[in-house]
Amino acid sequence: MAAIDRAPTGVADATLREALATARRAVVFTGAGVSTECGIPDYRSPGGIWTRYRPVAFADFLASADMRREFWRRKFATHETIAAAVPGRGHRAIAALIARGVVSCVITQNVDGLHQRAGVAEDRVVELHGNTTYARCLECGRRYALAPIRRAFLAAGTLPECAECGGLVKTATISFGQTMPAAEMRRAEAASLACDLFLVVGSSLRVQPAAGFPLLAKRAGARLVIVNREPTPLDGYADQVLQGEIGPLLGAAAGVG
Ligand code: ZN
Repeated sequence: MAAIDRAPTGVADATLREALATARRAVVFTGAGVSTECGIPDYRSPGGIWTRYRPVAFADFLASADMRREFWRRKFATHETIAAAVPGRGHRAIAALIARGVVSCVITQNVDGLHQRAGVAEDRVVELHGNTTYARCLECGRRYALAPIRRAFLAAGTLPECAECGGLVKTATISFGQTMPAAEMRRAEAASLACDLFLVVGSSLRVQPAAGFPLLAKRAGARLVIVNREPTPLDGYADQVLQGEIGPLLGAAAGVG
C-alpha cells in the first residue's frame, strides 16, 4: 500500500527530490492538472468546457460539412484560452529536469503544447491525444498554422482543406472515435518499459488507454510516484502518492521558482 503524503509539507518535497535524485531514466506522465494553474480548464471535469461544447466525434467530422463547421465553431470559441496560456511552474520544472538529463521524456494527455513552449524539444514530448495548437491534413499529414484557418473561417465560414492533396484539415488532436496515434503509443510504451521512475503529475488516471502506462512501468520494475490534487484509481499501486498543488510541489523538488 502506498504511503500517502498530503502536501504542502517539506516531507513531500523531500520525497520527490529523493525520487528524482536516485532515478537514472525517469519518465514524467502529465494530465490536465499540470495546466489548470495556467488557466486551462480540465475539459472533462463536471461543468468543464466539454459540458457546454461537447466535442464533435471523429465519424461526424468526416460525415458532413455541417459537422466540420460545428467542429471549427467550437474550436474557435475556446481557442483564446489556450492561445493566451503560458507554461506554469510545473511545466518549467519538467523542462528543467529534462534539460538536466534526469527525465528522458514527458508523456502527456494534454493537447495544449505547453511542454514544448516551456522549452522541451518536440522529440521529448509524447502527445497521446495530439495537439490543438495547430492543424493537419487527415490524408497526407501536412501541418497547418491555425491563424489563417481561423481568419478564413470567421470571415466567410470557409472550411480548411489541404493545399497539397485536397484532404480534410482538422486540429492535430485525437478526437473521440479517432484511432490513437500508433507511433506515440509505441513511444510511450517503450519509455514506460525502460524507465526506473514513472512520475505521474496532475492526471486523474481515468482515461484509457493512457492510464495503462503507469501500471506497465510498475510491472516492469519502475518506482511509481503519483502527484495529484485528488486520489486516483492507481494510488494503491504507487510507491508514493503526493497530494497537493502541482506547481509548488514539482517546482520545489526541481529547484525551479
Ligand atoms: Zn493533404
